[in-house]
Amino acid sequence: MAGDLQGTDVAYLDYNATAPLRPEALEAMLGALQSVGNASSMHHAGRKAATRVDAARRSLADLLNCAPGEIIFTSGATEANNLALRAGYARGGLLVTTAAEHLAVIETARTITAEHPDSLLILPVDQDGVVDLEPLVAALHNKPVALVSLMLANNETGVLIDLDPVCKAAHEAGALVHTDATQYVGRLPLDLAELDVDLLSLSAHKFGGPQGVGALFVRRGTPLPHRPLLVGGGHERGWRAGTLNVAGITGLGAAAQAARRQLADEAVRVTALRSALEAALIVEVADCRINGAHAPRLPGVTSVTFPGVPADAVLAAMPQVAASDGSACSSGAPSPSHVLLAMGRSRDDADSTVRFSLGYATTERDIERATAAAIDAVRHVRSVMAATAEP
Ligand code: PMP
Repeated sequence: MAGDLQGTDVAYLDYNATAPLRPEALEAMLGALQSVGNASSMHHAGRKAATRVDAARRSLADLLNCAPGEIIFTSGATEANNLALRAGYARGGLLVTTAAEHLAVIETARTITAEHPDSLLILPVDQDGVVDLEPLVAALHNKPVALVSLMLANNETGVLIDLDPVCKAAHEAGALVHTDATQYVGRLPLDLAELDVDLLSLSAHKFGGPQGVGALFVRRGTPLPHRPLLVGGGHERGWRAGTLNVAGITGLGAAAQAARRQLADEAVRVTALRSALEAALIVEVADCRINGAHAPRLPGVTSVTFPGVPADAVLAAMPQVAASDGSACSSGAPSPSHVLLAMGRSRDDADSTVRFSLGYATTERDIERATAAAIDAVRHVRSVMAATAEP
């Protein structure tokens, strides 16, 4: 286990909430933090800071196979999603997205279309969380569509979307395509020379960079008005004003470089660990269900419903496992996961779902410990519930 959990008996399985900082990112950031210099200053110290930013831009561009000039650094995927949707919608026409998107997309879409609710189309997903192409194609034929925004990998279930037919249909109809690739980047290979999206959002802390820094990819030549959330000094080609977060960006770049080097091996290793966890849970908790199991998924995510067993009670009964009930981004909120509801799960099932998410530093030992703890926790909660049930 990485970070301050190293040497403890905690199995950290919450990579979709945040991954531990990669050692390469920490080292690079320490160097940047110990240096003075504003990346916009023309003197030597400023040029050195700008060099760090340029290097990070190149490293991220290498990971995505795009040009460095197509990257805008932001404070994270939330900001990148806001920028993408605001700019895309400003073209005029419908904004199309799905019911299983992250709230950083859904709430942004709702906010910017509030005065014209008819200009927002939220597509349903099936029981595996996959969006049906048919209503999307129908929408593209019916009305001008400004932007289609579909996530590449779902943060709660890991379900992957095949964006190629979406890009083809959208572009034929003159619409742009944005993808929230926050959970995908650094976990599976991504080639923006192949994947024909116009805009893509990501966040460094999901692939071993620091929190509070991310990026928006904007394909060169995309006809898009800027709709900056922050105006001022015109940084990042006018998309986002404000002094660049040199240390954060440096950490993002180092994490991107490390992730790129280890991507293929990590995906295979993490998939095997996830399979071991799922197989053991299915054997020992016979009625548990894996959400999205029939769809292609990210290597390290499993969303498991333990019917009738509240997820918060399961998590409380296994303090040595750091996992999450539904989406950590909205945990604390009493409402059930909108993703699981969109997949047709009942409120009770959504409330009885635990998300385990694994990543680059997850070990076999973590999985052994987490498996045993989860099985014990579910049995314990069930026995307490049975003992306290009305006769
Ligand atoms: N999109 C997705 C799919 C996410 O999982 C997250 C983070 N949970 C975000 C956007 C927002 O990222 P950030 O909080 O880093 O801005």
